[in-house]
Amino acid sequence: MHRYTMPRKNTRRAAGALRWRRTKIIATLGPVSASSDMIEKLIAAGVNVVRINMSHGEPDIHRQTIRRVRRAAQKAGRHIAILLDLCGPKIRVGHFEHGSITLKTGRTVTVTTRPVVGRAGLVPSQYRSLHKDVRPGERILLDDGKLELRVLAVEGRDVSCRVVEGGVLSDHKGMNLPNSDLSAAALTAKDRKDVQLALEMQVDFVALSFVRFARDVLQLRRYMKRLGGEIPVISKIERPEALCEIDAIMEASYGIMIARGDLGIEMPAEKVPLIQRDLVAKGRQKGVPVIVATQMLESMMQNSRPTRAEVTDVAGAALLSTDAAMLSGETAVGAFPLQAVKTMDRVLREVEQQQWHEGRFAVEPIADRGSKQHVVRESMAHAAVQLARDLEMEAIIVPTHTGNTARIMASHRPLAPTVGACSEAAICRQMALHWGIVPVRIERSAKRDWRSICLHISKQCKLGKKGQDVLLVSGFNDDPAQDEPVLKLLHL
Ligand code: PEP
Repeated sequence: MHRYTMPRKNTRRAAGALRWRRTKIIATLGPVSASSDMIEKLIAAGVNVVRINMSHGEPDIHRQTIRRVRRAAQKAGRHIAILLDLCGPKIRVGHFEHGSITLKTGRTVTVTTRPVVGRAGLVPSQYRSLHKDVRPGERILLDDGKLELRVLAVEGRDVSCRVVEGGVLSDHKGMNLPNSDLSAAALTAKDRKDVQLALEMQVDFVALSFVRFARDVLQLRRYMKRLGGEIPVISKIERPEALCEIDAIMEASYGIMIARGDLGIEMPAEKVPLIQRDLVAKGRQKGVPVIVATQMLESMMQNSRPTRAEVTDVAGAALLSTDAAMLSGETAVGAFPLQAVKTMDRVLREVEQQQWHEGRFAVEPIADRGSKQHVVRESMAHAAVQLARDLEMEAIIVPTHTGNTARIMASHRPLAPTVGACSEAAICRQMALHWGIVPVRIERSAKRDWRSICLHISKQCKLGKKGQDVLLVSGFNDDPAQDEPVLKLLHL
């Protein structure tokens, strides 16, 4: 037990290696955190990616927030990515005569798609196809799954249900149909407008909600292409169907988000922890970044300190070696947005420090090395990580055009800090999402003078001293004709 409190060896090396947190922090911006002052504070506290939740707020406010983030990042000299989260086909109940009704367990109630105002025994649905999509025996969950109905019969546009779990239901609360085959399009008319805003403001990632199939992601990508742009897509995994097609979804997406809020309603909540473990592992095997989201420090919406269970949840995400952990309401509308980020930072660093001293960040080695070309690059990445570890390198420096080589290196979870060096600001921001990558912008240069690149970066990042070693890794390319990986040991 002592090792958790005793001073550890290798203090100088440890301080250098642990200067950068490996697990990235995503903070959702909202009314309590959208001022320039607070954005600057959140960035100083360690936020790597900000999330704009399109379920709330007006387009002009979002534009203003995005501009503030860009300005604050520039002022801080940091590469901060912006993730614009589309609402998707979130289903809600309509409006009630007196703002709410009480559903009594065991009674029957009618959910209708007729344009009515709700009253006792009658729940209006904003989702107009509800009566076409549900079948007798299926469940309808209301208000984050707190209330539950079971469908008895469908007559015209009325769905008659038994109340399985009663309670108070108020205006516009969410509705989930976990057993039904939904006909709603993944990309709604509002999403299309929001994608236009994402392209106009050149955000770094777009998150697609309620993804069920790879074709949902491809539809969004096609839509962006038609508008003349391309933004990497993060697929939110929150519907059971997505898990059946997860390989194809990962293939079509840049990354995934485990949206535990809706996922824990659509599926029994007790299934979420193992799904999280499996998706983080799968993402790493495929080099696809994974975000663990929702309720990580939920009680910090009201309290300045988290519960022990929340601390353990955040620590668990680091132990799984997830790419990023996300704060939602905690930073958007909570009473302690800055403390939430600082708390998350402290917990992640505590775990990572222990992992570093134990000599490994990830539990499983990369097993699935794919095609021949992938076998070569994955083997080289694996070898580079081993080499840097055996020779106690100060850092791994990865000059990269597309970010690819840095991302592949990061998926092997190296012990040494890994610098992704790129001349493109947008790629530097994308790298901000990935586990362990420290993005650094360098001058565009036609010649590959590895020595001066390394010296420049070492100086900029205050990496090591003269005479110490860094490992340079470059050149993984999807195009076989240009795939010329380089591993080079350089003395500073
Ligand atoms: C979630 O459901 O966990 C989630 C992140 O999605 P949203 O916050 O958009 O509901």
